Amino acid sequence: MKASALRFLVCPACREALELRARAEEGREVMTGSLVSPRCGREYPIVRGIPRFVDSQGYAASFGYEWNRFSRVQLDSVNGTRQSQQALEATTGWKDSDYQGRLVLDAGVGSGRFAEVVASKGGEVVGIDLTTAVEAAWDNIGRHERVHLLQADIFAMPFRDATFELAYSVGVLHHTPDTRAAFERVAAVVKPGGGLAVYLYARYGPQLSDGIRKVTTRLPVRLMLGLSALAVPLYYPYRLPGLGKLLNTLCPISLHPDWRWRWLDTFDWYTPQYQWKLQYPEVFRWFRDNGFQDIEIFDEPIRMRGLKANAHAVAAG
Ligand SMILES: [Zn+2]
Repeated sequence: MKASALRFLVCPACREALELRARAEEGREVMTGSLVSPRCGREYPIVRGIPRFVDSQGYAASFGYEWNRFSRVQLDSVNGTRQSQQALEATTGWKDSDYQGRLVLDAGVGSGRFAEVVASKGGEVVGIDLTTAVEAAWDNIGRHERVHLLQADIFAMPFRDATFELAYSVGVLHHTPDTRAAFERVAAVVKPGGGLAVYLYARYGPQLSDGIRKVTTRLPVRLMLGLSALAVPLYYPYRLPGLGKLLNTLCPISLHPDWRWRWLDTFDWYTPQYQWKLQYPEVFRWFRDNGFQDIEIFDEPIRMRGLKANAHAVAAG
């Protein structure tokens, strides 16, 4: 971690400032040490360069496995595409200039595919994840001067309310026990006048894989890694006219043209403990009820953003 993170980090228990005790440093990175809360006495270790505000991956352990196993597949800088940049743009609608000099929260950073984009556009990005995915992210982007990574719980984030100018969460909140409650926690740390954007799974059309997931979410992740690899060759029959559509309704797999991405995305669909699906009206209400205006809906459900009203505007409204 960088000492500069102390200006926005607080103890998640008492919300007071933290003191840094560095034991080993490499350049500007504190690799080993701890963060101590003088107010309540709690201590949070810094391990492998990352502050750890949780001691368990909880319900999200499959993602820790996933993002360490497939740590670089979706990084634009590695695969030479702009797919992560385009997916982030499709969710947020934010322009490159919107990121410059802004403090940006990536809620559920995974291996860092979107945080890498934000940092490259001049944003100072704070990526949190409940899982050891943050270790893959650290290896990918942790030393970037505008990247901060934390292992933390979205329901007990180490920030005060109204900390970030921008916050986004792409494909994450529906994997928590309570999507709406997770949304509200992220919404709370956005400053008045700041922006929030989310991508969530949609509950439109048949959801036959919910039944399959009742089995697959209980299988060992290593077995699921093997089973998900079936998506690599199944791509070809799934691409056939007619038959392919039927197969993909009965048992959806990723049809991404890159075989590694296909494998990763299929694993990602069948292993998470929680996978809620939403509809536009309810997510629209979440934005509105949390003080957001100028709510915009983008293509491919559910991608939506809003602008947090400032206190004056709320009072006037
Ligand atoms: Zn404390």
